[in-house]
Amino acid sequence: MKFLYSDTQDYVDPGYDFLNDRCRPGRERYWSDVYAHEFMDPAPYDGLLVSMSAVRQAAGVATSKVRYSTREEQRLLRDGARQFLRYGGPRFKDTMLLGDCGAFAYVEHPVPAYAPEEVVEFYTEAGFTHGISPDHIIFACDLTNPSEQAVDAATRQRFAITLANAEVFLGLVKREGMPFEPLGPVQGWSPKSMAEAAHRLERMGYRYLAIGGLVPLKVDAIKAVLTAIRERIRPETEIHLLGFAKADSIHEFTGFGITSFDSTSPLIRAFKDEKANYYREGSDGRLEYYTAIRIPQATENARLMQGIKRGQFSAEDLLLRERRALIEVRAYDRGASSAEATLDAVMDYHQFLLRGDGTGAAQQDKALRKTAALVQRTLKHQPWKECDCAVCRDIGVEVIIFRSSNRNKRRGMHNLSVYHRHLSKTIQGTA
Ligand SMILES: [Zn+2]
Repeated sequence: MKFLYSDTQDYVDPGYDFLNDRCRPGRERYWSDVYAHEFMDPAPYDGLLVSMSAVRQAAGVATSKVRYSTREEQRLLRDGARQFLRYGGPRFKDTMLLGDCGAFAYVEHPVPAYAPEEVVEFYTEAGFTHGISPDHIIFACDLTNPSEQAVDAATRQRFAITLANAEVFLGLVKREGMPFEPLGPVQGWSPKSMAEAAHRLERMGYRYLAIGGLVPLKVDAIKAVLTAIRERIRPETEIHLLGFAKADSIHEFTGFGITSFDSTSPLIRAFKDEKANYYREGSDGRLEYYTAIRIPQATENARLMQGIKRGQFSAEDLLLRERRALIEVRAYDRGASSAEATLDAVMDYHQFLLRGDGTGAAQQDKALRKTAALVQRTLKHQPWKECDCAVCRDIGVEVIIFRSSNRNKRRGMHNLSVYHRHLSKTIQGTA
């Protein structure tokens, strides 16, 4: 089972100065920076997924969060996606480079933003190894399997558009001499309708299917979908799970004949999750999570800046507490301070992130106690000291500090590598 990471232009400055929080002098975005697969050996994933909507903005479609500039798009098409992503050479020769349309970008529109012709041309020019036909997301998944007549016209239309596109797309790919492996996207409003879509795609000639619409579904619902699909298709037909948000539960999915899936969650959780920011493989083979220690930059944090502007706290005072928290955490890492003193310094600064949020003192105290307990656990276990990934070896305790993109993204890369290893073990364990 291959784990693909969706490219969201995540790179870090390898020469970042953590003590002064500065990029290396003369650093040029992208050119001086490195991707996770350049920074880490082995690479923390088996392939990359690139969404067309992130690279090429379609007319009338909201700008995707990940956005290539026009020059970047041109370079990607001219040099190929592999060279653009610096994912070439013998080290990565067997890796997957999967293209999709990024259907979330045009989900509000009546039809997909790109026609099959444009998509085939894009995948071919960019040199993808695999590419998914333009689909149209159906969000609701009704496990009671309502009939086609019982669902609304818009849903029926999305189902029909996705299949009609797939037929045209496959014809074009064949005509071009199959420059990449085409994947047929499965969309439906229920397990049964998705199984029907999968069956029709297989009859068209697809050997590899991409199951969409799984993002909001719980583990049991995804299993119901996969069971229904597997019952209708050949055992040798391959399956990719699109945007698989339940990556942590992958051990429950090893029996469905899944060839590949993509997820961004290990990286994203490093800086979006409330508390599960740092991954570790537990002794029982399951993943464990730690909260990162939040020491934001006082003069760059929106909430702290508001408080300073409103006169609630002084910038000078905040800077002192911020500095003290950093000094204590680093001293603790060297064995030159205690966990208690470090926790005190961290929470003394952290409280300002909450004070002034308008929830009242009782509520704030409760939130602070919760955070203190989580930070205490992180400090006590010192998980960054046990990890031998390139990030933790390189920057040590900085990886656990929640502060600036260069730390947060590196922590995300560490998570990817822990996750990737966890996945290989899970697969080996069930083989
Ligand atoms: Zn690590």
